[in-house]
Amino acid sequence: MLKRLPNLKVVQHPFKKRILHVQSPFQNSKSVPIQKVVNNAKLEPETELRRNVPYVIEDQNYRYKEGKIYHGFQCERIESIPDYGLMSCTLRHLGTGTEFWYLDRNDVHNVFSINFRTTPFDSTGLPHILEHITLCGSKNYPVRDPFFKMLNRSVATFMNAMTGPDYTLYPFSSMNEVDFRNLQKIYLDAVFRPNLLHLDFLQEGWRLEHEDLHNRDSDIVFKGVVYNEMIGALSDNARLFKHKMVNHILPSHTYGHIAAGDPLEIPKLTHKDLVEFHRKYYHPSNARIFCYGSFDLEKTLAFVDKEYLSHYEFIDNAYSYVSPHERWSEPRIVHVPTRLDCMGASIDRQNQIAIGLLTCDITDIQECFELKVLSELMIRGPNSAFYKSLIEPNFSGGYITGAGFTPNCKDTFFFVGLRDLRIDDFERFNDLYDQTVHKASQEGFESEHIESVLCNLELSLKHENEMFGKHLLYKTAIPWNHGGDVVSCLRDSNMLATLRGRLKENSNYFQQKIEKYFLDNTHKLTLTMSPDEMCEIKRKLSEAKLLLQKLNEISDEEYDNIYENGIKLEVAQKSPENIEVLPCLSINDVKDPIKCPQMEETTVQNVPTQFCKVSSNGITYFNCFFNITGLSQDDAMLVPLFCHVISEMGTSNHDFREFDRLRLTKMATFTCDTKVVENVLDGKSYRLGLIMTTHALDKNVSDMFELCEELMLNFKFENTSRLSMLIENYISKLSLKIGSSGHLFAMLNSSGLVTNAAKLKSQLAGVCHIDLMKEYVQQNSIEDIQDRLRNIGAMVFSKNNLRVAINSSAAHQATVLEHYERFLNKLPTLEKSIDNTELHLLEPSTRHFIMNKPLSYCAKSFSAVPYVHEDHPVLRVLAKFLTAKYLLPVVREQNGAYGAGARIGFDGLFSFYSYRDPHARNTIEVFDKTYEWLQSESYKLDQQALFEAKLGVLQLLDWPTGPGDIGMDNFVLGASYDIYSRYRSRVLNVTVDDVRAVIEKYFKEEPKHFGKCILGPEIEENETSEGVEITS
Ligand SMILES: [Zn+2]
Repeated sequence: MLKRLPNLKVVQHPFKKRILHVQSPFQNSKSVPIQKVVNNAKLEPETELRRNVPYVIEDQNYRYKEGKIYHGFQCERIESIPDYGLMSCTLRHLGTGTEFWYLDRNDVHNVFSINFRTTPFDSTGLPHILEHITLCGSKNYPVRDPFFKMLNRSVATFMNAMTGPDYTLYPFSSMNEVDFRNLQKIYLDAVFRPNLLHLDFLQEGWRLEHEDLHNRDSDIVFKGVVYNEMIGALSDNARLFKHKMVNHILPSHTYGHIAAGDPLEIPKLTHKDLVEFHRKYYHPSNARIFCYGSFDLEKTLAFVDKEYLSHYEFIDNAYSYVSPHERWSEPRIVHVPTRLDCMGASIDRQNQIAIGLLTCDITDIQECFELKVLSELMIRGPNSAFYKSLIEPNFSGGYITGAGFTPNCKDTFFFVGLRDLRIDDFERFNDLYDQTVHKASQEGFESEHIESVLCNLELSLKHENEMFGKHLLYKTAIPWNHGGDVVSCLRDSNMLATLRGRLKENSNYFQQKIEKYFLDNTHKLTLTMSPDEMCEIKRKLSEAKLLLQKLNEISDEEYDNIYENGIKLEVAQKSPENIEVLPCLSINDVKDPIKCPQMEETTVQNVPTQFCKVSSNGITYFNCFFNITGLSQDDAMLVPLFCHVISEMGTSNHDFREFDRLRLTKMATFTCDTKVVENVLDGKSYRLGLIMTTHALDKNVSDMFELCEELMLNFKFENTSRLSMLIENYISKLSLKIGSSGHLFAMLNSSGLVTNAAKLKSQLAGVCHIDLMKEYVQQNSIEDIQDRLRNIGAMVFSKNNLRVAINSSAAHQATVLEHYERFLNKLPTLEKSIDNTELHLLEPSTRHFIMNKPLSYCAKSFSAVPYVHEDHPVLRVLAKFLTAKYLLPVVREQNGAYGAGARIGFDGLFSFYSYRDPHARNTIEVFDKTYEWLQSESYKLDQQALFEAKLGVLQLLDWPTGPGDIGMDNFVLGASYDIYSRYRSRVLNVTVDDVRAVIEKYFKEEPKHFGKCILGPEIEENETSEGVEITS
């Protein structure tokens, strides 16, 4: 299922991929003359030890100097990080001690984040609820949900807040400096001067309220955004398992609790606790500020100091330290009951088991790096020890989600486990685990295997995605949170060189690590999880008990107030706010489109080929699109499986282990995916494609093409037991993602009820695909499946079906072309099959997929217009307007869903959706009543609201793109730069009248072709109403 996700992501951000020239970091570092000066004069002894002296470089000409004070911040360290082409400046605020880390890089995509160490001592979800309420208005910006409101007043590429087990982060990114400054103001005010109103506590945290707000006689229930969010989050078994692993392997101190909140504990939290926690933990002395990019640092420092930090005194933040966990002298075993997943494996196989081992301290950066490599050697791919012993015997659904080295807390840990196995097999797992560890400690690893893992690591360091600054923030936030030397986290090449040196000196190096962390480690947890059919009933009982207890505790007066408070909250939620206090960009800030990529479209040996010159950081990206529209419906259904197994089976010249090792040494993984593409010009036809992408270092390009050729010409499905195992793991993974991306699944399904093309998408990647696959595997022998996969392979890999896109640096293009031509020479030319299929519309219908989950995901889709139609940009602006002014206030703020929105995609389908929704039926009604709302609230569509909606669209249109993704809209969807720029200027020119016209045209009457879908628990009313197809 993981391989299917890119498909789904496209649904999430249909217009995400765009063009941006990120300058190569190496060009940048070359242009800065660096003079090495070892500078360790004013270091404290402890820092000195950590600091890798030969790599501390001070550039004499660099604009900031160690020791100098800039707006109340003293610069402590300046270092050059050649791996990432950046300068690192570590500063400290003199008054409060706040650490400020600036990564100076010639990248216009700037990032800013305020981080706090928040260490809860219970599971009331305090830090998480605080994170929500912080965003309910502050001194300068007394507006609810300023982030949601800013979504449409900004061109931010990222705005979020997140709570981890011991930290809370408030990051954002933007490529526009005016916008960056605006957001900085809002973020800083939100965290340092939030209003923390009691009413917001009730809304975001928890409250007692009548089920029907306006009916005093209706039942009293618990409500609250985080309360509901956590019921939803913990109903996801994979997520629950990860939480439990942390809670039980680090049971004392802060990690023994669920920082995000256990719904049965949340109602123990008081507003007073929350205000007190904020005062203490959101103090600047307990904060760290991260800043990345090319915007003026001094402006930021001056603002942060003058407006906020200079108003505080230093406090000792020792209260938030986390000390290393005391090591156990005996291993432990814990069992957790969980809910039955009705989309998952059969009930007797829905058990999970894992063994966790506490490893090193998160601030031991080199050790963490080496453990990550060791973890790769132990668990990743067919050459690894655990893969051979645990996965290949095929008695489970594969590794448990997230298995491997886990550097997320003060003490890091490693865990390995299996999902979807029988309870009888727990013992077998334990035996195999012991045997594997013993064997690995005695025999070690083959040197070619180690080398392939290290080569792949080098490649991944060079590969740059569009969110580079954010990537660096995430990479370093946790060690930094515990006082680790974060600058060394960025010295990957040095860490790699150190490791290579150690391996050379000591051939038993990794064996000794296995002894230390696996064999002799008594801090070992065995965690098991099994479904309990009574789980949901028990949860409801505990909830009822808690409710009763709460009601007994309160006075008569408080009881009477429940009704009034509910009304008060509703009034507050519905009352108009003055969002004009929030800053907003102007049209001048966004009038320029992104630059046209340097692209050339040509044919090479009759294969349409697109070349893009990019700053690729020494990497060549290779993308193949095989048009497979001609496949029969039955064959098409098997293509997702084909994609999953094709590069895992080996070839006629190399068995699967050797092939994997060769691949790992020379290139990135083969990402293989199906893609249904509607014609963006007329929306009258569609194509089915198989996309295969990969990349390699420029020096390995010839090997990359040779391995592609080997795979396409000599693929093999002969190994029956391996194929069976891969198929079972594939099916086991399918249902995993519904929990976190349920709204995407709901939209895939509602869209699939509207056109035959969308139906195909839903069959290939939606909820239906899970059943289709289960059924298919039951009804067909493995030999039949082998035959079918072979046939598919023989039909797919043909020059006649192929289009190619290659992104590389200008300098390397000639070499790439040479190898590419050699590759094409070998590829067969089969008879050309059909190019596209006619698109047609389906009869309206509604589907409800019953899932054993407490909350729902709803969607409604209808057919609007093709992408290039002049109404499409207007509808897109309208979708943003509806999201901001209608769906978020009603479905999220009033009805308690975690999220909601509307969108229109490249496929021309307009969709509504909700996320983790407690009131599915109301929500569908909200979707249906859009036109009525637009009529009664038509005054809300004013110039400002229109402009905000446009900004929301521009954000997506101008989304940054990593070097490997430049030009992909043109290549995959046929949306050229011309189409993009015309579309963009139409968005800028949309008027209120245009929007009113599309409202009349597309919303006044119920559309002729629509689909509705609910994924979630049973709803009585639906059972009886006609026309709802229920799948359980
Ligand atoms: Zn939350």
